[in-house]
Order: sequence, then C-alpha cells, then structure tokens
Amino acid sequence: MSKYVIIGGSAGGIGAVEAIREVDPMGTLTVISEEKVPQYSRPMISEYVSREATLDSMKYRGDQFWKNSNVQALTGRAATKIDFTKKQVELDGGDKIGYEKLLIATGGKPFVPRMEGGEKDGVFTFTDLSSAEGIEAKLEHSKSAVVIGGGLIGVSASEALVKRGIKVTLVELKNNILNLILDNTASEMAEKVLTEAGVTVITGQTVQRILGKKGNEAAVGGVVMTDNTEIPCDLVVVAIGVIPRTELVKETAVKLNRGIVVDRFMRTNLPDVYACGDVAEAHDFLINGNRLLPLWPLAHLGGQVAGYNMAGKQVEYEGGTVMSSLKYFDLPVIAVGDVNPEELDDYEVLVELKPEQTVYKKILLKDGAIVGFIFLGDLERAGIFFRLLKNHVDVSEIKDRLLSEDFGIVTLPEQLRQEMFVVN
Ligand SMILES: Cc1cc2nc3c(=O)[nH]c(=O)nc-3n(C[C@H](O)[C@H](O)[C@H](O)COP(=O)(O)OP(=O)(O)OC[C@H]3O[C@@H](n4cnc5c(N)ncnc54)[C@H](O)[C@@H]3O)c2cc1C
Repeated sequence: MSKYVIIGGSAGGIGAVEAIREVDPMGTLTVISEEKVPQYSRPMISEYVSREATLDSMKYRGDQFWKNSNVQALTGRAATKIDFTKKQVELDGGDKIGYEKLLIATGGKPFVPRMEGGEKDGVFTFTDLSSAEGIEAKLEHSKSAVVIGGGLIGVSASEALVKRGIKVTLVELKNNILNLILDNTASEMAEKVLTEAGVTVITGQTVQRILGKKGNEAAVGGVVMTDNTEIPCDLVVVAIGVIPRTELVKETAVKLNRGIVVDRFMRTNLPDVYACGDVAEAHDFLINGNRLLPLWPLAHLGGQVAGYNMAGKQVEYEGGTVMSSLKYFDLPVIAVGDVNPEELDDYEVLVELKPEQTVYKKILLKDGAIVGFIFLGDLERAGIFFRLLKNHVDVSEIKDRLLSEDFGIVTLPEQLRQEMFVVN
C-alpha cells in the first residue's frame, strides 16, 4: 500500500512528486514508469539525435531526483490494470499496489497507421528516448531518410537528421507543413527555411508502402508514394501524431472523451483518481472548456496542481491554451490560440509581413480581444500579447498600434496594463 501512486514519471509525474513533497514530505509515494529513465526532456529528443544534447544535458531532473524526493521509483515497470473499487494498480509480473490517491500521467503514444512494410528494420517513431537511440544506432550506415508527417515532431526529426548529414525527404499529406499550428503564409515561410537547409518537402501526398532493401528485404530500402513514385531511403520516421495513452482506463468508469476528462483540480470523475498531461483533457482558458493540450509546461503544471490536491492543499488549475514555441534551423516561431479559423467573418486580422527578412506577424481579434497570434522570425513582445490574450483584455482602443515599432508595456494604457496582470 502506498499513500500516493503515480503512473508515469515524465513532466506530469515529476510536477506531482514535487508538489506532494512540498505538502507531505513523508507519505509513501510510488512512481511507476515503463521507461527506465523517465526524467528527461522529451522535446529535446531532436537535439539528442542531432548530438546538440547528451542524455545528461537533457535530464529534466537529476539521477538522484527519485531518491531525494523519497519516492519508491518502479522504473522499467508497466502498470497493466487498475482496480478502482479495490484501489489497486496491477503491474507487469502481477504484483499489486494499493493506493489512497492515484495520478494517471501516462502521456501520449505515437499514432502509427497500418502500412505495408511498416515492420521493417529501419522504421521508427520519434517520441521517446528509445526511438531516438534506435535511430542513433542506424545513422552510421544510413544516407537518407523519409519522414512521414510535417507537424511539429516530423519537422523536429527532419532538422535533427539533416544536422547529422542525412538526406531528408519530409512528406506531408496536407498542402502545408505545420498546418495545425500555422496559417498558410507562416507555413510557406517555414517550408522555405527547411528547403534552404536541405530538406526536400513533398506536400499533398503520403507514403503508401515501405520497400525492402535489395538483398535484405527485412530492412528499409525505400518508400512508394501515393502517386507511385519511389524514393530510396535507409530510414523511415513515422511522425503522424500522438494520441493519449488511455488504455488503462478504457472500459472502466473513468470519464473518457479523447483524453481523460478532469476538472480544475485535475480530478477525474472517480474519487481519489487524478489525471494530467498529455493523457488528460483539461481546462483551456481561451475556449473556457476542456481539450487536449499536449505541451510540456502544461503537463508539469497540471501535475503540480494534481499533486497539491492529492496531498490535501486545494489549488485550482489556471489552464492553458494551444501554444507552440519553436525554433527550426534558427527560425523562431511562436503561435498561440486560434490562428487559423475557417471562417474569418467574426475576426479582425492585423498583419505585418517582411518576406525578405523572414518576418511575419499576425494577430487575430474577436470582440475586441486577442484570440490568437503568430510571430515568425521576430518574437519581440510576444510575452505581452500572450498576457493580453490570456486575460481576454479588450484592446479595441489600441488595436491600430499593436504592430507598431513603439508598442510595448510602457505605452500600454494603465488600465489595460492592470487587466493584463490580473491572476484569474
Ligand atoms: C519530439 C517531441 C517534441 C516535443 N516538443 C515540444 C515542445 O517544443 N514544447 C512543448 O511544450 N511540448 C513538446 N512536446 C510535447 C511534450 O513532450 C509533452 O507534452 C510532455 O512530454 C507530456 O508529459 P506527460 O508527463 O503528460 O507524458 P509523457 O512525457 O508522454 O510521459 C508519460 C510517461 O508515462 C509512461 N507510461 C505510460 N503508460 C505507462 C504504464 N502503463 N505504466 C508505466 N508507465 C507508463 C511513459 O512510458 C512515459 O515515460 C514534444 C514531444 C515530442 C515527442
């Protein structure tokens, strides 16, 4: 029996451990983690493959973290079943651990569609350290790769592989890369930067099957595209998307939508059961409702809130929203909120475009408040826009100045400055 049991030891699990220990230094605390070393920064997988980071430099918490936090760390073990009536978690091997409070922080798993040749040696995903290590082990004997999926993870993988001297073809089914987080203009600018760095970008089609190598059918030798063209390659990285790891709660009484539904205290609908991070559907302050927001800082924050509440200190989750902050081949981009609505009728759109400097700024307003923005190439003052968006500040009276050179915190009217910093 452990007072607290946490399944998953990454951003969410770590946030929860830290919060629990702040309130309750002694209560028994067990973390179950399939990964042997779970406390690394998942967003740094790309730097690990490009050799800009080592396993040590990408550690989010040091090796002594579990011991120093007085945690029984069951690393390299998987939770296989939860009995919510008996309040017990079953592990691989059959052992059972009782809990008073349970946190499910199992994150996401890569979505891999069935594809002929998908089992071949040289096909990888790009979501955890073991996939990065698998790729690393193959790179010495590889010259080219096809990356399937032009979202955040696919573009990260492409960048890492190009930096290791691999010829990369990035394949995106839609007409634009990064189409979930950028609009067409920003996406085209990002694509240009990738192409200049050596990535071949193919949009509007995908890979239909993976071919074997001549003389070694079991190893990747190329791909066949939907238009039947063949691209030879030694590696295939499948980066189509990530889905919540909800398998432990499927067909149980836990309320599940696309992820586990939680309230503002990160509680599920069952007593003493909490969830956070990529597996949870938590509060989004922009839509004032729940949705999946697979972002590292939000997983950590959600874990903290869950941890405080599990330990008896009532803390409310302030929520997050869609937000991507990235840097590919030195091009910085930040995209927050609603940046690409299908119908623009209810929105006002402010734009600044300087293609020769690769600078693009777009701000979307609805009912006088900022509901989304994209800054590409120049992120200055993005923090101010984030605060204005988060607090739904009505900027109608200053909207003409939002993109002017002299706009800044000091030129904001006093009233708006105050509203911007109100903690909701
Ligand atoms: C390549 C890549 C780049 C990214 N870049 C960014 C970025 O730039 N910015 C950003 O904000 N976010 C980024 N993300 C997303 C970010 O990494 C996630 O939002 C974050 O890791 C979620 O944390 P989590 O704790 O919810 O889950 P995870 O980090 O997914 O961890 C869940 C843990 O639980 C373990 N687990 C699952 N099921 C079980 C089980 N049954 N038993 C035991 N253990 C289990 C898993 O093995 C894993 O260790 C990126 C993700 C990837 C893959």
